Amino acid sequence: MKKNKQKTGPNLLEMAQEILQGNRRSLSRAITLVESSRSDHQEQAQELLNDLLPKTGQSIRIGISGTPGVGKSTFIEAFGRYLTAAGHKVAVLTIDPSSKRTGGSILGDKTRMEELSRDPRAFIRPSPSGGSLGGVARRTREAMLLCEAAGYDVVLVETVGVGQSETSVADMVDVFLLLLAPAGGDELQGIKRGIMELADIIVINKADGELVPVARRAAAEYRGAVGLMRPKSKQWMPKVLMASALNKIGIDTLWDTIADYRAARSEGDELQMQRSEQSAAWMWTEVSESLMNQLKDHEQVSASLAQMEMQVKAGRISPTAAARELLAVFLRK
Ligand code: GDP
Repeated sequence: MKKNKQKTGPNLLEMAQEILQGNRRSLSRAITLVESSRSDHQEQAQELLNDLLPKTGQSIRIGISGTPGVGKSTFIEAFGRYLTAAGHKVAVLTIDPSSKRTGGSILGDKTRMEELSRDPRAFIRPSPSGGSLGGVARRTREAMLLCEAAGYDVVLVETVGVGQSETSVADMVDVFLLLLAPAGGDELQGIKRGIMELADIIVINKADGELVPVARRAAAEYRGAVGLMRPKSKQWMPKVLMASALNKIGIDTLWDTIADYRAARSEGDELQMQRSEQSAAWMWTEVSESLMNQLKDHEQVSASLAQMEMQVKAGRISPTAAARELLAVFLRK
């Protein structure tokens, strides 16, 4: 932490210290900087992140996905409360590329997790709004790092099944949970094969009351399906569990299973390697997104983009030739 700020804007040194002390207001302000599209805010955010980077990485990062209505918020409330009661500090972040802060996104609504949002050991931050999935994911990753610097040792990243958001979440967490309803067949539940393959742990929620037998059948069915899939890791076969978020049943077993997962995948440093790969992939995503934006903002390129695309569509020029021409214009100094 070298440069103290004389210019206007937040005192980043002070902000970093406050975040390290677990100050929630400073954490919120820092996340707001990360989320801002203003270039001065972005600069400040990157400086802050760089300073705090050595203090990050101490949490277990848990992704949670599931279609609307499966019980994600009920589950996160129960799971989060279980963890804070056990002495953990829990941050809950969400990725919802469709979220508009003012539009009342379902994921952005704090009242979904009423008890947890009042819990002093929990920090809930709704999805950054607007922009591409890539942009939303980057801001969530950075918010995750800030939460870690603030001492949150469990970070839950929630997503709803829209577009590619599950893949984005899987790419930033250590362990990916998929919540399913107690019903058979992934087609029935609108689960895409690819999403099943991302899951390290599948939780059949709502295993309570008369749904218990259905949940058991579903669990058996998914165990069979998982057995046929190629596992992501040699050290871990995805597990299928049952839980009732409503009655707070199965939460402890899940936490134990996550501990097993960590232990299994820590052998040979698999988890650490996964994080390194994730960081490198993130860097390349940043490079390509940033190049793409520069390309589109380039005056001469943007002037001919639409026309070039029309010509490609009409078959008057080959896509490769068109791309080369656009790049030539872009690279001409
Ligand atoms: P989300 O859209 O995935 O966040 O789902 P919610 O947490 O809002 O839950 C959707 C509905 O399912 C609500 O009516 C919940 O009360 C109910 N629900 C959630 N978890 C359970 C559970 O474990 N058992 C039962 N029976 N209902 C549940």
